[in-house]
Parts: sequence; C-alpha cells; structure tokens
Amino acid sequence: MRVSVKLLIMLLLVTLGLLPSCKSSCNKPDPYDGEFGKRIEEDLTTTNILEDNYRNYYEIFVRSFNDSNMDLVGDLNGVTQKLDYIKDLGYNGIWLMPINPSSSYHKYDVNNYYDVDKSYGTLDDLKNLINECHKRNIKLIIDLVLNHSGKANPYFSKACSAYDKYLKGLTLTAEEEIYKDFYVFYPTAAHVPSNVTAYKAGAGYSFYYEGNFSDNMPEFNCDSLAVKEEFKNIMKFYLDLGIDGFRLDAVKYYYFNNNAKNIEFLRWLNTTVKEIKPDAYIVGECFDGYELISEYYDSGIDSHFNFATSVAYASQSGVINGTNPEGRGITSYYNSLVSNYNIGNGQGIPAPFIDNHDMPRYTYQSNVEKNKFTFGLLAMMNGTLFSYYGDEVGLYGTNKGNNNVDQNVRIPIKWGDFSNLDCSVIDGVTSMQYPYATVKEQLEDANSILNYYKKVLLLRNQNPEIARGSIELIAKDNKDNKMLFISKTYNNSKIGIIFNFSEYENLNIDY
Ligand code: CA
Ligand code: CA
Repeated sequence: MRVSVKLLIMLLLVTLGLLPSCKSSCNKPDPYDGEFGKRIEEDLTTTNILEDNYRNYYEIFVRSFNDSNMDLVGDLNGVTQKLDYIKDLGYNGIWLMPINPSSSYHKYDVNNYYDVDKSYGTLDDLKNLINECHKRNIKLIIDLVLNHSGKANPYFSKACSAYDKYLKGLTLTAEEEIYKDFYVFYPTAAHVPSNVTAYKAGAGYSFYYEGNFSDNMPEFNCDSLAVKEEFKNIMKFYLDLGIDGFRLDAVKYYYFNNNAKNIEFLRWLNTTVKEIKPDAYIVGECFDGYELISEYYDSGIDSHFNFATSVAYASQSGVINGTNPEGRGITSYYNSLVSNYNIGNGQGIPAPFIDNHDMPRYTYQSNVEKNKFTFGLLAMMNGTLFSYYGDEVGLYGTNKGNNNVDQNVRIPIKWGDFSNLDCSVIDGVTSMQYPYATVKEQLEDANSILNYYKKVLLLRNQNPEIARGSIELIAKDNKDNKMLFISKTYNNSKIGIIFNFSEYENLNIDY
C-alpha cells in the first residue's frame, strides 16, 4: 500500500512556513529531502475534517459568552449567534458549562435537570442551538452534574422528609421509599467518615448529608436504583433532544475516595448512554494525575481530560505551559506528546487541554508570541482537543493569589461590537483584565493570536494524522532548546512535524 508522506512545519515563536536546513555533514534526515518532501502548510484553503469523535472542542461559560437580548447575561441564543465564528476558528465541537436552573451564577448546583435556566433561555432555544450546530457539523455536548444536585432541587426536600420518617420508624409511602435513599445521608455526626464533609439537613432534622463541594451541593446516592433510573431519564431526555454527548462533572466524587466503584459506575453510565446513542461522546472530569486518569479509561468512557497537560500541573510536568521563553523544555514536551498518546493504555481518546473554568488562564499578558507558541504545542497533540472560550484572544484571568475567585477566570469576551453588551460583569468578579485587542480587531490583524489559532486548527483539521497518528521521534537537538522533529502515521499516511522552539525564524539545526 502506498504511504503518503507530508511535512508539516510547526513554527512556534514566529509564523508558519519556515523550513530548517540540515548541515551538509549531518547524518540525520534532511527535511528538504527524502520522504518528507512536501510542505503541506502552503495550502490553507482546504479542509479534510473526519466525522469521528477526534474533534476540536470549544468550552463555553454561557453566562459570559454572548448576550442576545441586552439584559447583561449571556444566553443560548447568544451562542447560536456566534456559531459561524466558532466554526471559522476551526472548532467542530462545543461543550456548554451547565445550563439547567440553578441557585448559583455558575450553575453547578442543578435545581431542575429537565429545563434551561431562564436567564439562559428556553428548551426551544436549546433545540434551535442544536439544529444550528448540526447544520455546521458541530457536535454539542453539555455539562452533566450527577455527583450532586442543588439543595433547592425538589429531589432533596422529598428525600429529607422521607429519610426523617424512616429514622423515626414511621410507615413510608411507595414514593418515600424511593426518596429516602436518594442522597448520601448519615443518621448522626458520628456516622460521617472522617474524610467526608457533611452538613446537618436543616431545621427540624437531626441527620446529615454528604456535601464535599459545598453545603448547597448535597450528593446523590449512586447505589440507589431509583437514582440510576432518574439519571438514565435525564440523559435520554437530552440525547433525544439531539445533544451529542456529555462532559461529566467530578467523576472522582460519585463514590468519594473509591475509584473502583467510580469506574464501575462510569461503565454503567457509558453503556446506558451508548445504548441510546451509539456515537455519543463522553468526557469525564477526573481531576488527577496521569496514572489515575489512565485507570479511569477502563470504564469505557471515551475520554478523560488530561490534566497533566494543563496549567494546573505545569509546574510538575513542564509539559506545555512550563516551556520557558528560551525554548528549553523540548524533552518534556516530547515526553508529554507520547504520554498523552498513550493515556488510558490505548483505550479511548486522549483529551489534552491547557486551561478551563477552574484554573488560571494560560495567557501571558505581554507576550503575543508565547500565547501562540503554547497553543501551537497543544494543537499538535493527539486526541480531542479542548480550548476554553476567550483564550483565542488572550483573555486573562487567575483564580490564584490576590484575586482568588473563580469568577475572574470566567469573565466576558470583548467582541468589539457595540451592539453587544460585551462589558457585562458576573457576580463576584474582582478583576477583569484585557491585555489584548477585541475579537473584531484581532480578526482583522493577520498576526493576531486569534488568526494563529485559526491557522493551527486548520492544519489540525487538514491532517487527521495530528490527532490520530502514532508518534515517532525523528530528531531532537541535543541542546534541548531549538528543534524537535517527529512523524505521525495514521491510515498509512505519514506526516512530519518540525517544532521550532527558538526565537529565530531560520534555524541551522545542529543535532
Ligand atoms: Ca441575555
Ligand atoms: Ca458523591
């Protein structure tokens, strides 16, 4: 079978399209010569998007994204208005943070799983968004928060009332029999395990409920058959509406400190979803290191976020974000490429990302090129890539140090279009910093961060080998500060990727 070979030049500190040369005495492959003969970045017009689950996902905090009705709150119709923008960037998947009715601004405490929060719109708006996504070959997944509900969810009041009657030895109705086990309850404080956080159920009640995240997030009892039945109904409700899959919140917490039971529960959840929609895509939030994330792939869930590539783990791994301006870190990046490819021992799809709504944005406030470089490194990794909204324009925010609230990493994008309320604020934000130009301005600037994202995502879409191919090291310079040359092979097609880690456009590679 013919093997097609192509050469992709990934240039990181500068622009696309610069080919390094090998000294005449060099014994290593010369990128100008031999099997890697064709430079593929010269064609930036065609796409070759495969319709599988190796996609580029764009994470949206709806509240801060785009407001369609001028009430200072982003909404689902606002997302629909920006679908062409998202598609033009090169994304073919969207993950919406929670959209259900909730008592909080972030909506990770769901009070009704079968509706859309009024401030975000209606179920009809959601159906319209799904249809408009599908017209553009964009898959839409939603956050599914199944470890806990909001305290104001009617499930919780019914459960407290039923459990109270049960403790008092009273006769329960059939419905109460179901609800008494809906949440993780402890009869007294003495029953609460030492590593679990629990709260008293409230006035008139003597018992406690588990709430490891907050007192407003009582945790479901995943052993209850009635709870599983309800979860199935919720998932079916959204799959029937046309939702393409789920991002599962806090999968390590279903059974607190019990990974084996969590994996077993995820296996049930995956089977349940795939019986309804075989090509659904599910990604889990197992906020942990490489080893445990790999174990969670045994559940059959398609992907688990690779936290080892994120800002949160950068100081340990030096993987992407830890690469310094002098370019050192090639070896750690290469190791990361390989470990990301191997995550889950070949089961499922890797899910690399840099940042999300729970961690500082990776944005460097005064270095456009480093913003580009970092994203370029991410975009050459295998798997389904996840980006956080606003990173493409260098939106800045940290939830560490002096400005330690999560709202600061969830601030609105500035579209630069005065018809849109782009300066709306979210409750509790203490810092809104915009080190770079608006979307409108960056779209018009060929050298902007945004246009670099577009170029890199186009390369990723044009060349399925990048997300799917097996990795081979061809050359790496010994000084670990300039050049990395790898190949990726998928379906008998091989591409070469050269990473220029230096700050120079033309490299005389000495390796
Ligand atoms: Ca609105
Ligand atoms: Ca739990």
